[in-house]
Amino acid sequence: MTCIFTPSACHIDLPALQRNFARLGAPETILPVIKSDAYGHGLLPVARALDRAGARQFAVGTISEGISLRDDGYRQRVVTLMGALCPNEWTQAADARLTPVVTCFDDLKNAADGLSGRGETLEVALKLDTGMGRLGFDEADIPALIESLAHLPRLVPVMALSHMPSADMPEDENFSREQIERFRRLCEPLRQRWPDLARSLANTAGTLGLPRARFELCRPGLALYGGNPFAGGPWEERGAGLEWVMSLSAPVMQVRQLRAGQSLSYGRTFTAPRDMTIAVIACGYATAYPRALSNRASVLLHGRRAPVVGRVCMSMMMADVSHLPAVSRGDTAWLMGGEAAPGERPVTVCELARLADVLPYELLCLMGEVNPRQYII
Ligand SMILES: *Cc1c(COP(=O)(O)O)cnc(C)c1O
Repeated sequence: MTCIFTPSACHIDLPALQRNFARLGAPETILPVIKSDAYGHGLLPVARALDRAGARQFAVGTISEGISLRDDGYRQRVVTLMGALCPNEWTQAADARLTPVVTCFDDLKNAADGLSGRGETLEVALKLDTGMGRLGFDEADIPALIESLAHLPRLVPVMALSHMPSADMPEDENFSREQIERFRRLCEPLRQRWPDLARSLANTAGTLGLPRARFELCRPGLALYGGNPFAGGPWEERGAGLEWVMSLSAPVMQVRQLRAGQSLSYGRTFTAPRDMTIAVIACGYATAYPRALSNRASVLLHGRRAPVVGRVCMSMMMADVSHLPAVSRGDTAWLMGGEAAPGERPVTVCELARLADVLPYELLCLMGEVNPRQYII
């Protein structure tokens, strides 16, 4: 795929995605999260690859994403984590046989209204708040929730969901453990009424870090794409073996000399301490390579690290290749991922995220949306 304004590219390794999926547990226990265009990896290619790997169902963000999966021929359960946002979306959810999350009593009413005149049932996922504080029914709401649903027989609850705010923080393990018990307790009366109701609490960190958080269904997102939420901490081993799925490459536009004392790029934040060779690379902040990485990150050229020097520009950036005499115009620079030479460390999403003070999630979502994607199948 080409793009008119950038020669950079995101490379999406679908076999790595499938291996990550397999590492997370038996397929029937996983509700893979492919919201936000599969974290920038592309909704449909990711859904197809996971489907081939045995995924039984999906969680997306919006009704539109769910409809895209249906238009692509996908027939199994699709949960929309953002529910449905307007009356029309509840009707669309029913027509497309999606499973929206219901988060409040208004949602129940809108869901029932959206169904009216359509003579069908609508599967729903009940969102419970057990510590995130963002969306969902509280413990005190549960009796009224059961009562309301008793009057709405066309709404069919198939799962109960809750979300963990700090399962990636080993130092907050007590909170997570209490949350697991709270979730179990909130689900009890619901499961008495609907014995097949599947419970789902764990995101990636819960799935990998806290076995008791798994219940019937785990909802990993980040891990599918290779992210270990415990990287660099005491629980790092719990997420070992995951592989990054996305890499980012861009061509070298020019290789040039910088004399000692000469400054480089906007703001003149870098001055050559000695004569240097600089590669100008065709990628910048317009394609989601953060300007905050100026003078901080490295890129891989010929498998070797080259430090980013000077400010990252809109569609160009520079790296010091003085130690890599073979680099020339037209070579491929790997800004993330790529093949590292023996003894060299690859540039990971986590490393860039840490240096730029953003989340790996943000880099993946943004880079994947603005750079043309090439799929390795
Ligand atoms: C995004 C999301 C997930 C997945 O979270 P990860 O940390 O990427 O595993 C799970 N559940 C809900 C409700 C989400 O919004």
